[in-house]
Amino acid sequence: MSAEKIIEATNVSKWYGSFRVLTEINLTVRKGERIVICGPSGSGKSTLIRCFNRLEAHQQGDIIVNGIRLHDKMRNVTDVRKNVGMVFQHFNLFPHMTVLMNCMAAPMWIKGVSEAEARKTAMRFLERVRIPEQANKYPAQLSGGQQQRVAIARSLCMEPAVMLFDEPTSALDPEMVSEVLETMTSLARDGMTMVCVTHEMGFARAVADRVIFMDSGKIVEEGAPNDFFTNPQHARTKLFLSQIL
Ligand code: ADP
Ligand code: MG
Repeated sequence: MSAEKIIEATNVSKWYGSFRVLTEINLTVRKGERIVICGPSGSGKSTLIRCFNRLEAHQQGDIIVNGIRLHDKMRNVTDVRKNVGMVFQHFNLFPHMTVLMNCMAAPMWIKGVSEAEARKTAMRFLERVRIPEQANKYPAQLSGGQQQRVAIARSLCMEPAVMLFDEPTSALDPEMVSEVLETMTSLARDGMTMVCVTHEMGFARAVADRVIFMDSGKIVEEGAPNDFFTNPQHARTKLFLSQIL
């Protein structure tokens, strides 16, 4: 594994008003690593990964993403977001744009690549997620699983250094979960650096280098999937696993 650090969070804390949502989080993600974050609803998983692309601001500690330190006075948030792909639970595609335009927009508008180049890249990644034939449709004409694969392709078109996934399968009908997990697994096999918030434990076992368990804004436990699932150390981890497995 490469030693290059893509994300380095040190003693990160965050409050919403007087409510402390994250408490002294320490997490390093190295190039090529696949991290799965799990934990009960409300434990701060989404907030944490949203801090990594500055959709949320933290108040204490340090976050460095691809060499850029995130702080209140930073003027290059776009440089961070260019390098950090994000896939949301509810896809968040632009409804008024075709699949192809969804994939071409950010490279053209943010990176300034030509239309021809953006189209070529978009088709390459739509092929990568195995839906090139849907390129000229609108998101509403696609199934949930197809829309989520478009969302993944759209992120990949920016050729990010890391991909963040926030429960990408939890809004899908059960029969569509596997096509999205297969896409994510194939990205992992190709060496993509990934931080995935998910309760898909089969995926975690197959793909993750490390599984992190959060509760009440803290990292309670982390380990290699085999240790984590077969020999959890903390009572809260055991309880959580007993509820979802
Ligand atoms: P998870 O993703 O683990 O379910 P979240 O990060 O979404 O958890 O939320 C963690 C806690 O922070 C929850 O108690 C939630 O209600 C609270 N929270 C999330 N977003 C906000 C917000 N914008 N303002 C106030 N509280 C919030
Ligand atoms: Mg969440």
